[in-house]
Amino acid sequence: MHETSGSWPLGSSERPLRVAVIGSGPSGFYAIAALFKADGLEADVDLFDRLPTPFGLVRGGVAPDHQKIKNVIRVYNRTAQHERFRFFGNVELGRDISVEDLRRHYDHIVYATGNESDRKMGIPGEELPGVHSATEFVGWYNGHPDFQDRSFDLASARRVAVVGNGNVAMDVTRVLARSPDELAPTDITAESLAVLRESRVEEVILLGRRGPAQAAFSPQEIKEIGSLEGVSLLVSEAEMDLDGISSTWLEDSAAPSARRNVAYLTEVAGAEAGDEERLVTCRFLVSPIDLQAGDDGRVSRVVIEKNELYAADDGTPRPRGTGETETLAVDLVFKAVGYRGVPLPGVPFHERWGILPNDEGRLQTGPDGEIVPGQYVVGWAKRGPTGLIGTNSPDSTATVKKMIEDIDGMTAPADSARAPERIVELLHERGVDFVSFDDWTMLDEDEVRLGEAQSKVREKYTDVESMMAAVNRLR
Ligand code: NAP
Repeated sequence: MHETSGSWPLGSSERPLRVAVIGSGPSGFYAIAALFKADGLEADVDLFDRLPTPFGLVRGGVAPDHQKIKNVIRVYNRTAQHERFRFFGNVELGRDISVEDLRRHYDHIVYATGNESDRKMGIPGEELPGVHSATEFVGWYNGHPDFQDRSFDLASARRVAVVGNGNVAMDVTRVLARSPDELAPTDITAESLAVLRESRVEEVILLGRRGPAQAAFSPQEIKEIGSLEGVSLLVSEAEMDLDGISSTWLEDSAAPSARRNVAYLTEVAGAEAGDEERLVTCRFLVSPIDLQAGDDGRVSRVVIEKNELYAADDGTPRPRGTGETETLAVDLVFKAVGYRGVPLPGVPFHERWGILPNDEGRLQTGPDGEIVPGQYVVGWAKRGPTGLIGTNSPDSTATVKKMIEDIDGMTAPADSARAPERIVELLHERGVDFVSFDDWTMLDEDEVRLGEAQSKVREKYTDVESMMAAVNRLR
């Protein structure tokens, strides 16, 4: 226990700053690392997650065939070894603890809750059976407890449309097109692997609303699709014929990755489908405008409208419909058009942007509202669903800088309420069976053991009940 006294400055070793971080994905861990690294600051950090398992999107979002990306967990594990760090898994804000509780027991609250939902396209037929969000599909094959009740009828599907040209669209396309034998040794769940083994998908059509020069995927991601065993990547030469706006933009202001995407797609354009089992077809400058049902009530057609580009005020090429349409026969549609945040109980929300309103990481009462003292935001909850995992490190550090600037002059809760054991007592009083980092480490080892028995990286527990049963057995 830390002996605290009101006479010591907040953030000193005698009176460490008490911080609650909500959400244990990359941005939460990077914020904690920045707090531990800050010169002259001592901070006690408690990390809360509604799931018993840490690491957010690294566990529940990164594709199973991208195991190397998951190695970043080693960095988070080092942070978790810090003597002033504690993990409280299986504790949900709004269910087990409230913002008011946190305000009573901590000096600062950091929201690192990411974007747990998805953007809507706002077109007819979006709710039809057979139309899924990438969020659901990705969560399902990665064993996220929220998505285990979803089902994807891959056994009767031949042609699948994936809407969007970002890296999530790449992940979904790869998992659909890759041979299940290649997925088998990863940490993909046994249930989803079984469904993928029954898949009869022959073609995945990627629908990009802008041109190849504006595609949001990374060059290595599209190249990986192009080099998948048993897959032909098809792009027509006509679609690679860049319009004037794209050519100028590519030359003057596009990122190097855009040039590399165009160079690669130009190289493969015009190739014929080989004897390969599966096709991935890239269509550009097309927007779905209507999803239509067949006789069985499931999606069976997607009406796409041809787009042209125009330069927005800042010069960015934007799409607009030309009125020319085409109808594609499809059996399933996956929407990979971006994630969106969900409101947290007792925390302001920016409805239009789907994030927590903030000024450089300082929470606001609403869009352009007053600063809420002592409450901060990092990661996708702060800036929206952009950037790679590493992008969150400087972003979280920038928020932590604001937290440190604010220490002078802030009113801390009474020292009796700030004592680290208070929150533990509160959770016990409420009967919350929280998961410590040691508990998680045992569960982690157990998953790896279960995986080894099947020659795979790990077999995940996919529902909270079985996770908690395992934790209680292993304790
Ligand atoms: P993203 O990169 O923003 O891509 C979203 C795509 O959806 C864009 O092509 C966008 O087109 C399109 N789109 C948006 N609204 C649309 C609409 N109404 N109709 C048709 N298309 C629409 O988002 P993401 O793919 O969800 O990825 C989120 C972040 O995670 C990204 O930063 C991504 O790089 C990262 N990520 C990385 C990896 C990896 O490194 N392996 C894997 C997964 C995700 P416009 O460009 O025209 O808006």
